[in-house]
Amino acid sequence: MVADEIRRLHEELPEGVRLVAVSKFHPVEALMEAYDAGQRCFGESRVQELFEKIPAMPADVKWHFIGHLQTNKVRQIIGKTALIESVDSERLLDLIDRESERAGVVTRVLMQVHVAREETKFGFLPEELMAYFTDRRFESLKATHICGVMGMASNTDDMERVRRDFAEIRSIFNRVNELCPDLRGFDTVSMGMSGDWQLAVEEGSNMVRVGSLIFGPRQY
Ligand SMILES: *Cc1c(COP(=O)(O)O)cnc(C)c1O
Repeated sequence: MVADEIRRLHEELPEGVRLVAVSKFHPVEALMEAYDAGQRCFGESRVQELFEKIPAMPADVKWHFIGHLQTNKVRQIIGKTALIESVDSERLLDLIDRESERAGVVTRVLMQVHVAREETKFGFLPEELMAYFTDRRFESLKATHICGVMGMASNTDDMERVRRDFAEIRSIFNRVNELCPDLRGFDTVSMGMSGDWQLAVEEGSNMVRVGSLIFGPRQY
């Protein structure tokens, strides 16, 4: 089942669009089924759960952190991830940078941008993100590589609304690239989940984060 979904997704995804298998709340056995089907990139949203899974999975797994990262967990997580997709404040970014420098590693991150209208979602507002790059504040980073943006669409059945949210995320990414053409490796647009990944890809996503479509419903 899991293996079939992984293979089907890899067939359906256009070239250049990477798949993050979102494995939060699923047991290691399920992750191993995906791994055996060729999946190497997994997304987790809780630090504790990530730390339980890392030693239980093969060493070549690339772990993406996709949840809200509390500042008191930053020191622990540094060096453990291939990508932190959910940098949602400048304070968090600066802390990641400080701890990465201290640990002697470079941490790759995405800036989470908040376009959905729900109150509960984390992320930079579009204008905050543009101000960050307009002021070129990234130049002060010593051990952090900003690789692109991550975003979520509004949680609604209104697919035109979802499409507009994705288009906005992509347009923010494009504007940052125009504003700072010297930003190297700023190439990732992570958007699209189980229910909307096709739409996200149509609107310019090159990284989708798919959970329940692969692993089934989560048992919270
Ligand atoms: C849980 C989660 C996903 C995956 O959601 P599905 O609907 O199960 O595909 C993607 N992105 C983030 C940030 C998540 O927290």
